[in-house]
Amino acid sequence: MDGRDECLGWEDHLLRERQGSFLLAFLDQDWEALADQAQALRRQAFHLEQMYAGYRRLREEFQEAHPLFRQELDRMADSADSLYAAGQWAGEMGRFRRLMAAAVERVLDRDTGAGGAGGRYRQLLEEVSELSRLADRLHEGVGVQYAFDSGQGQLCLTARDLRALLFLSFEYLVSQGYALGRCLNCGRYFVPFSVNTCYCDRPVGEGRICKTAAAKVNYTKKLRQDQARSLYAKQNNTYQMRVRRSPERYPEEEYRLWRQQAKELLAATERGELSWEEFQRKMELPRRRGGEERDVWNGK
Ligand SMILES: [Zn+2]
Repeated sequence: MDGRDECLGWEDHLLRERQGSFLLAFLDQDWEALADQAQALRRQAFHLEQMYAGYRRLREEFQEAHPLFRQELDRMADSADSLYAAGQWAGEMGRFRRLMAAAVERVLDRDTGAGGAGGRYRQLLEEVSELSRLADRLHEGVGVQYAFDSGQGQLCLTARDLRALLFLSFEYLVSQGYALGRCLNCGRYFVPFSVNTCYCDRPVGEGRICKTAAAKVNYTKKLRQDQARSLYAKQNNTYQMRVRRSPERYPEEEYRLWRQQAKELLAATERGELSWEEFQRKMELPRRRGGEERDVWNGK
């Protein structure tokens, strides 16, 4: 394995990917929903044909999942009760996911503290005996295989139990000093290229990924802020000028009050609590003809 890649799988199902991909795909998967769906399909099936049809539907909807998960589900096609097997498997993976998610958060999260992941992992194993027993058991089923597919060939870690592969993926990240970040857009873990990377590159629809979607949101926000600030400056200048030119019609005191409230409106708009249209409407200057319509702007 080189520093950036991992090769995991079994026999001729070996997969070479960027480090941590398998673990992240596992954490992203909604296993409870899959288990529920398998159960629901099984309840609706009254004979064998419907059972097969239900299983095929489950498999079809699972197309987006990681290839190693798809292969696991495919293995259940020959089972006497595929939907039951799939439901049991998804439930088991869901329980394992909770365990791993907690381990990832405690050991690999970059917000937990810089470095020291190895120490945190050891401490976790000491505290959570369920995890250390599971780790021992999973390690027993691990093998090594040499794959010739790339130029130099590659050393791959193999296991029939996917949980063992997930565990290896996790331990490899720990041993190599990787830290995971939580994407500021979708909240899911990713392997950051640098400490400054705050967004992942998962697709979010419309051909965009979290990174570019967030950039667009920030851009729109920036535009709105600029727009609001320039309107505030324009209105403020105008009002100031009026106060200077005819202080008897535009008392300094009222201007100060207006400016204070305008600043608050600007801040609310920048925070996104006030729409641009509303801000524009509220920023209209008080009209003053002679002495009437006092305090129009303040609504008093
Ligand atoms: Zn994201």
